[in-house]
Amino acid sequence: MDWTNLIYLAAATLFIVGLKGLTHPRTAVRGNLIGSLAMLLAVVVAMVYFFQKSGYDKIGIAVVLAGLALGSAIGVVLAVKIEMTAMPQLVALFNGFGGLASVLVASAAAVLPPKAVLAAADPQTGRLALDFSLALAASGIIGAVTFSGSLIAFGKLQELAIFKRSLRFSGQQAANTLLAVVTLALGAGMIAGGSLWLFLPMVLLALVLGVLLVTSIGGADMPVVIALLNSYSGLAAAATGFVIGNTVLIVAGSLVGASGVVLTRIMCKAMNRSLFNVLFGVMGPGGGDTGPVDDIYEGKIKSAGAEEVAMLYDNIQRAVIVPGYGMAVAQAQHAVRELTNVLEERGIEVEFAIHPVAGRMPGHMNVLLAEAEIPYEKLKAMDEINPTFPQTDVVLVIGANDVVNPVARTDPNSPIAGMPILDVDKARTVVVIKRSLSPGFAGIANPLFAADNTYMFFGDGKKAVLDLISALKES
Ligand code: NDP
Repeated sequence: MDWTNLIYLAAATLFIVGLKGLTHPRTAVRGNLIGSLAMLLAVVVAMVYFFQKSGYDKIGIAVVLAGLALGSAIGVVLAVKIEMTAMPQLVALFNGFGGLASVLVASAAAVLPPKAVLAAADPQTGRLALDFSLALAASGIIGAVTFSGSLIAFGKLQELAIFKRSLRFSGQQAANTLLAVVTLALGAGMIAGGSLWLFLPMVLLALVLGVLLVTSIGGADMPVVIALLNSYSGLAAAATGFVIGNTVLIVAGSLVGASGVVLTRIMCKAMNRSLFNVLFGVMGPGGGDTGPVDDIYEGKIKSAGAEEVAMLYDNIQRAVIVPGYGMAVAQAQHAVRELTNVLEERGIEVEFAIHPVAGRMPGHMNVLLAEAEIPYEKLKAMDEINPTFPQTDVVLVIGANDVVNPVARTDPNSPIAGMPILDVDKARTVVVIKRSLSPGFAGIANPLFAADNTYMFFGDGKKAVLDLISALKES
């Protein structure tokens, strides 16, 4: 076991170095590669150890290799085929499958506990060791909540019709609490009695709990839930590591769990939600209501073409660009880079306003803008850029909607109520590039589009930016 643990230690160290790399866009790619390398090392060593331990049992080896080949093939196809804009759904599925894997391994261990665990059982009562039962219960409960919750999160991110509204019923909070208490009681019963027959009902209730916890979440609050499910998948893996006595699984799971908690805290701050409410599935008011759109927009929308927008940039000092999910859909980041160059050649100071939940995954906008080699110093976080909007001549919003919706400040019943937004409405002039007046992810109308200082520049994000560049060059 010594040589395996030594290589596991090397893999764990590489995981930490990889995570450190992921903290900055410049080092993120390298960090990702280091993390992948560490995982490869851990998987190979775990397999070799298993083969040795099983006495090179041919059927066991064949089953493991077949699983590995199938999983790798699915992973490669998904990684190559997936659109960048569908990454969040994929991440939700990965979290869910991590949870399912934990439940399956824990189920196998519940049916057939490892020999060492059986040998250490109380000879009189047959009761299994406390740490094993505890790890089994944690792995089953957290894994099951992660699995079913992540499937619902996938449906919401995929914007499946059934999930367009948050599905809530009266007394849901009480039902969630009751279900959580009964599930934990079954787990406690399993641990105290040392009996494993409570495992199945415990897991089934945890699956229902996962569904209820996530269905009630309003659309715009999804970033927090995804970060939390990510953390749960790590905790489930760590618990599974204790079940099967695998050190590297404990370390890797703990790292995912801990970094997921940090991300959840960042997302909670960004959305102005409390961690308690996230944990108990009590989030902002329900989403999906477009509200009285006619009252908000009718007769108040001013649209402008590329030439008119180009004129707004005449003799100005400061411009801010606000990217959102639509920039990712349009893949407009390289055109945006070119626009930045053109504006800077005119002596205009250009900065980017980055909302922490813009797009569909944490850091989505930073990744896209870094890909287009926009200098990192130009990307300003919400707290830093918000005070500068009143001194900004032109704000160009490219495919962002919820993160610039002033309703978050004014309507306590809105699904995004209380969420800090980019205060672009306070700038002298605002131009919004999007294809129509359709709502964003939260499904609500945006009074910014009808504001006196706003011009709507309708069109696909990339095409609109390229047209604007041509108009600027001609003017
Ligand atoms: P939104 O989802 O609010 O709005 C995106 C806008 O982009 C839409 O209104 C759409 O309008 C427009 N759009 C789509 N395609 C194009 C295109 N090709 N060209 C131009 N415009 C386009 O995006 P935001 O970034 O403002 O907000 C993110 C939302 O996603 C928040 O509600 C957040 O809570 C949620 N979310 C974020 C996650 C994260 O981790 N960042 C994870 C899960 C959810 P139109 O169709 O008219 O063009």
